[in-house]
Amino acid sequence: MKFPTRLRWAAVGCILALVFGCTLTAHLSDRTVCRQEDITRIPDDAAFLPPAQPADTTDEKWVALTFDDGPSKNTEPILDILKQAQVPATFFVVAAENNEKYLPLLTRIEAEGHQIGLHSCTHEYSKVYSSTTDFWADIKELKKKLEPYVADPAALTWLRFIGGSTNTVSHRYGGSGIMKQLKAQAEEMGYRTIDWNVSAEDAAGGHPSAETIVKNIIKDAKEHNICVVLMHDTKATGTTVEALPEIISWFSENGYQFCTVEDLPD
Ligand SMILES: [Zn+2]
Repeated sequence: MKFPTRLRWAAVGCILALVFGCTLTAHLSDRTVCRQEDITRIPDDAAFLPPAQPADTTDEKWVALTFDDGPSKNTEPILDILKQAQVPATFFVVAAENNEKYLPLLTRIEAEGHQIGLHSCTHEYSKVYSSTTDFWADIKELKKKLEPYVADPAALTWLRFIGGSTNTVSHRYGGSGIMKQLKAQAEEMGYRTIDWNVSAEDAAGGHPSAETIVKNIIKDAKEHNICVVLMHDTKATGTTVEALPEIISWFSENGYQFCTVEDLPD
């Protein structure tokens, strides 16, 4: 069967528009979360990691579960699971346009004994990392937006850099020295900053299954007696919620005690 040339060009046009449209939509909707390709898998700056403890030097095993880029519709089920298991966690939050309506959940997060940490207001790398001034303006804006929902905004002194403290995405916008400058400024201002040594890799494209998330975590966690686990509670990470009960069981069965980031042993 032969189609007139004009029809064929129209079809090609439609396909191109569709592909471009989808790419653009995906790009825009992902702007306010850590995308796996922008996140250092395991940052290597020792100053921002939990203390290194070789597996045979201590009996104590601790795990801090951390959730970045929320709150979102997935935060509530996560809180339900944590409550049921009586496990504390830490939430490094954002206050972007697409998640602002979930900010009242911060009150529940605090009331149930979890820790709230600062992550970013907009989570847009190009804005946040365009200069150190822009970075601190973003944090200031975040604190302002959290204020109505937390007991004491001044007590929010823990910070996690978007993309991690050794990310290189920031270099595109703020130059190669920006992370070094920001780390020094954070310390001067009295912020405590932490990366992670276990990654769920749950922000990867194609939405990894709960099974893959559990597998990713166990692979990294086996190496450490003190684990800081990076997960995400965005609207896109429903499989993280699914995986959570098994993640908690694995750490319990392997002798880990749960704590917030601020309660990790030094
Ligand atoms: Zn993030």
